[in-house]
Amino acid sequence: MEPFWKTKSLQQMTRSEWESLCDGCAKCCLHKLIDDDEQDQMVDTNVMSDSEQLHFTSVACQFLNDKKCECTVYPERTTLVPSCVQLTQDNLDQVFYMPSSCSYRRLQEGRGLPSWHPLLHKGKKSKMHQAGMSVRGKVVFDNLVEEQQYEDFIVVWPLQDVD
Ligand code: SF4
Ligand code: SF4
Repeated sequence: MEPFWKTKSLQQMTRSEWESLCDGCAKCCLHKLIDDDEQDQMVDTNVMSDSEQLHFTSVACQFLNDKKCECTVYPERTTLVPSCVQLTQDNLDQVFYMPSSCSYRRLQEGRGLPSWHPLLHKGKKSKMHQAGMSVRGKVVFDNLVEEQQYEDFIVVWPLQDVD
């Protein structure tokens, strides 16, 4: 029998199916910048339009456990970090704001799940870490970096995808 991610659209999935798709890479916990033409500078953002260029930084939310790549404040995250936007079936139009390796984006673009995805390895994240697809060991925390310095931390590795 084919697994649910091959037979259902993202909109058709149950809540638990949807949740299980997240690979736990934590790339979505990185600060992202867009070029702001009006201010002639890069600005920290969680929303973008089609014409804007998105840059990932290696600056991560201070509440991320960067070894496990897990949120340490999950139940309170939206209170503690108002900019923490979760992708849901109701805001799927924001999926293109996710890195190209993000499971939701891959499925929305018809690319399927990658060979390193935890769902294909009994839920274990080790293949993902080995493939360099998570943020493990690559980040600094936003409580240690001034926002004006984020531009110095722009990186391309979050844009990489394998498979
Ligand atoms: S980038 Fe996508 S797959 Fe990775 S942790 Fe965030 S929501 Fe999950
Ligand atoms: S609050 Fe948690 S989920 Fe949100 S950005 Fe921070 S570490 Fe990531």
